[in-house]
Amino acid sequence: MLKKLLDQMATLKRVQNVALLGGVHGNEMSGVFVAQKFMKDPTDITRNSFKTTVLMGNPKAVEKCTRYIDVDLNRQFSKENLNATNIDASYEVQRAREISNALSKDFGSPDVVLDMHNTTANMGNCFIIQDKQQVLSLHLINYIVKKAIHKAPAHILCVSNPKYTYNCSRCLAPNGIGLELGPQPQGVLLAELFQRMQELVINSMDFFEAFNSGATSDSFQADVYNIMEKVDFPRDSDGNITAMIHPRLQDKDWEALNPGDPIFLTFNGKTIGYDGKETMFPVFINEASYYEKHLAFWLTKKETFNVPAIKVQ
Ligand SMILES: [Zn+2]
Repeated sequence: MLKKLLDQMATLKRVQNVALLGGVHGNEMSGVFVAQKFMKDPTDITRNSFKTTVLMGNPKAVEKCTRYIDVDLNRQFSKENLNATNIDASYEVQRAREISNALSKDFGSPDVVLDMHNTTANMGNCFIIQDKQQVLSLHLINYIVKKAIHKAPAHILCVSNPKYTYNCSRCLAPNGIGLELGPQPQGVLLAELFQRMQELVINSMDFFEAFNSGATSDSFQADVYNIMEKVDFPRDSDGNITAMIHPRLQDKDWEALNPGDPIFLTFNGKTIGYDGKETMFPVFINEASYYEKHLAFWLTKKETFNVPAIKVQ
């Protein structure tokens, strides 16, 4: 029995280098202000057993309170962009290189990236991971969700679908996690979301410190939502949208969407139903920054699986 339990225990490398990013999108204010606070005084996020680096992702966009200057920074972390040396690259490609260099100078690539974002959608506390093999990330999320005093519905979104992966800043680390807190309008700072974000970050540091000092984390069942499909707004031949998110879908992120359920409402008041064959879980419904990406919401499927216990190597 004991042997079986030991077999299920994963031993993982100690955490040496944690990166905390805010303002990768300059108008997502919880991350901007939490990063600013900890850049000024890192006491609350400093621990003995690892180094934490706090960076403002896109300072020029933060100054202008806009998502980006030239292009979306959170799509620019491709190997080609990071390895190229051309000086005529867009501001965000240059920032991606600077961020990557700053984070890799001490230890090679960071072990963990916590990338703080906000969404205008009713996403609660959403944790975005690249794949389900991020065992340390899953334990971290489990810990910080349970420990939070400032509660909100919490879900894990997995973007391993090769059709929809993108070169984001969290991809700089094997344990990259996007913290997507909502709903919050762009350019607006809500105290409740600031407190939620700050608490998740501080508790993350406690988790890594305990992990490094030898604390084991028990196995548990995780629910993960896998991205399956992108849904755009209905459009006319000129590319203009011809319908809005249906009022009955608005704010229903993470809730089951069944075939036939209303998803859009035309400007003439006609309801358009979901024409898929199976139940899905929509997320990022009506996210403001996705209009330019031709994206009304994502469809996800829920998966439950067992995460093994972990301890440090
Ligand atoms: Zn963002």
